[in-house]
Amino acid sequence: MAFDVDLFVIGAGSGGVRAARFAADFGARVAVAESRYLGGTCVNVGCVPKKLLVYGAHYHEDFEQAQGFGWTTGQPSFDWPALIANKNREIERLNGIYRKLLVNSGVTLYEGHAKLHDAHTVEVNGQRLRAAHILIATGGWPMVPDIPGKEHAITSNEAFFLPALPRRVLVVGGGYIAVEFASIFNGLGAQTTQAYRGELFLRGFDQSVREHLRAELTKKGVALRFNADVARIDKQADGSLRATLKDGGIIDTDCVFYATGRRPMLDNLGLENTQVKLDDKGFIAVDDAYCTSEPSVLAIGDVIGRVPLTPVALAEGMAVARRLFRPEAYRKVDYQLIPTAVFSLPNIGTVGLTTEQAQAAGHRLKLFESRFRPMKLSLTGSQEQTLMKLIVDADTDKVLGCHMVGPDAGEIMQGIAVALKAGATKQVFDETIGIHPTAAEEFVTLRTPLA
Ligand SMILES: Cc1cc2nc3c(=O)[nH]c(=O)nc-3n(C[C@H](O)[C@H](O)[C@H](O)COP(=O)(O)OP(=O)(O)OC[C@H]3O[C@@H](n4cnc5c(N)ncnc54)[C@H](O)[C@@H]3O)c2cc1C
Repeated sequence: MAFDVDLFVIGAGSGGVRAARFAADFGARVAVAESRYLGGTCVNVGCVPKKLLVYGAHYHEDFEQAQGFGWTTGQPSFDWPALIANKNREIERLNGIYRKLLVNSGVTLYEGHAKLHDAHTVEVNGQRLRAAHILIATGGWPMVPDIPGKEHAITSNEAFFLPALPRRVLVVGGGYIAVEFASIFNGLGAQTTQAYRGELFLRGFDQSVREHLRAELTKKGVALRFNADVARIDKQADGSLRATLKDGGIIDTDCVFYATGRRPMLDNLGLENTQVKLDDKGFIAVDDAYCTSEPSVLAIGDVIGRVPLTPVALAEGMAVARRLFRPEAYRKVDYQLIPTAVFSLPNIGTVGLTTEQAQAAGHRLKLFESRFRPMKLSLTGSQEQTLMKLIVDADTDKVLGCHMVGPDAGEIMQGIAVALKAGATKQVFDETIGIHPTAAEEFVTLRTPLA
């Protein structure tokens, strides 16, 4: 059977671009379709613009703290349209880099919505192309629950393009995107409330981390409302919004930002023309090698709902390219010990098991914890505290998990993740000489376990 291409990738996001580029480098004839923006969620409405806004938000504290070091900063003022315009310019630059990466690798780019016509045919811009393999890398999309007034709510997609910074913001949700945006809005000067229907945000993170962040966000002025479920949103005569909680409570605000989960992006994808099946949560079901139930169709990244993070989508894209076109270099993606950061203010960095997971797995534990005021804050009025925690198997001495809340936690945790991947014991941590004076050295000087 004659095919136009060896691989057709639907979606030029993190996973799709990686798979397309490397498949082409390995000699395959590759096409990729992108309907919205090159680089996908991460570059356009995810990791990158989010981190830029977090940097922007942190300046608020930096100006205040600079005074402790002798600087006179005057009354700083903040210009949201300037930040957004500069952010947009940077994203356009990155879009251009992604275009070049694809074109220079010899990938044919179709800018348009792609739909599966059958198990080997993709339709894009009115054209049908036959492919030996089709890779679905269409990512995810934010979900807002079906409540009255949901049309008044925005999500991360819109937040990056708001014309003005709202005076008051209600962030709804308890996941990492919610706490990050609560930190962004609060840091930039909006009066910020975060409402979450559970007992405490960041389910799945270590309890000490969750409690520590609760205390720190509260100190910084975020009004945290737990066990608070929004029932409806009403627009008021003056244009402001009123969120009514299920318990009757009321929150008046100017912007309601929802971060309550993401669904797989399957809109008008034509899956019904294939044998591709979904799992019980609605994501595309794949096996260990990212094959769907249709032999010629594969899927990676957020659309399979495994670990929705950019580096994971990249690793999956690489695995697909290698298995299909450079099998001698193929290695399965290792989902153990994936480090992550939450870019709240302060940041969270984490790798390995939480205390709760380690206990549930039957480990006998030694826990090491340190809380301190970072040196950089010693000359300032800030009362921010850093938390560092090591979870150690008391029988094998192996470090099972490492967690931090504090400045640069993500940067620090990347190195610790290498140690944990290598199977480091607490003794290895103890024998490692610290770098002084840093916050990170605390991880190699924790001596006394919690009672
Ligand atoms: C606010 C936010 C912050 C985040 N922060 C981080 C972070 O700090 N660190 C981290 O690791 N991850 C972060 N993520 C997650 C990360 O962005 C995703 O895990 C990652 O982008 C997934 O890559 P992907 O290739 O699966 O899909 P995506 O990057 O979403 O790419 C999918 C692409 O497919 C295109 N597409 C969809 N349907 C079609 C179609 N039918 N035809 C053609 N094109 C189509 C879309 O337009 C999109 O460009 C964040 C996500 C969000 C929303």
